[in-house]
Amino acid sequence: MKISQLIKNSPRPFYSLEFFPPKENAHMPEFFEAARKLKAMSPLFVSVTYGAGGSRQANTLEVACSLKNECGFEPMTHLTCVGSQRERIRDYLNQLRGQQIDNILALRGDAPKPKSADEPPYDWSSGDFQHASDLVKFVRAEFSEFCIGVAGYPAPHPESESLEKDRRYTVQKVKDGGDFLVTQLFFDVAEYTALVADLRSRGVDKPVIPGVMPVQSLESLKYVMSMCGANIPQDYYNELAAADKSGGAAAVREVGTRYAAWQVRKLIEAGAPGVHLYTLNKSETCLKIAELVGAL
Ligand code: FAD
Repeated sequence: MKISQLIKNSPRPFYSLEFFPPKENAHMPEFFEAARKLKAMSPLFVSVTYGAGGSRQANTLEVACSLKNECGFEPMTHLTCVGSQRERIRDYLNQLRGQQIDNILALRGDAPKPKSADEPPYDWSSGDFQHASDLVKFVRAEFSEFCIGVAGYPAPHPESESLEKDRRYTVQKVKDGGDFLVTQLFFDVAEYTALVADLRSRGVDKPVIPGVMPVQSLESLKYVMSMCGANIPQDYYNELAAADKSGGAAAVREVGTRYAAWQVRKLIEAGAPGVHLYTLNKSETCLKIAELVGAL
């Protein structure tokens, strides 16, 4: 079923959950065990990343099908278009159609990193798509039945020349056919409310689902922040760093979980339609957040 319809029918704030496909097939049983435990949160939908963090792209479809057919979740597959030819994307969308997957998150993806200092920078003209909006237009034109999500950025995307341009291109993706937005992770609720207010003032009335990532370790936080350009309030960072010093990863996880639960509460109070949790394939943290928020 289309996520846009599910959101319309959803009687209360909802959770959606993001997974990444395990790199190794040997980790599939553990992965599905975690996913099954998360059924207790009754997520409105679950999403499966595509090629992010080294996960294999072929696994996205396989995992999404199992989450749908074996676990009973409504799936959304992420799809990146960087470096792709139209034919390959068409073929993939036909596979999704064949598996009755109705929802995609249409993304550009990141340029492959040069393997050495001598390698020239990535040539953006090597594929048929330059921006996520090109993918959105393609899907709308050839696969009109799909429900399409697009990414939104509370802090501008790191490649954006300015906040103004970032917002203008985000609006463009929605006008080209995006049905809803899922945001990049962020830690300051005011960044989300400002994004929503700005989009509304530019005529976008589609749901904007905030993406919340519970911090699991200081190392993973630093890595993720270097990739996505998110901001972190200094007080919160100091608290995480102090926890790391005194109690290591377990203490960081505890602080991260409490903060994420606080963020969820604030976001719902601020009118978010629901919250998209970056699960990092971990059930305990997400279940704890739901418990702290009082949603279980
Ligand atoms: P775009 O919307 O194309 O934007 C990218 C940059 O180009 C921005 O700076 C934008 O301002 C600029 N831009 C956009 N349109 C134009 C235009 N017409 N002219 C000039 N400039 C333009 N990556 C993965 O590899 N796999 C995943 O599964 C994945 N899942 C994600 C899920 C979410 C919720 C989010 C927020 C990100 C995810 N990403 C994933 C990361 C994403 O691929 C990167 O952030 C990528 O760099 C940008 O993707 P985009 O779809 O936002 O691109």
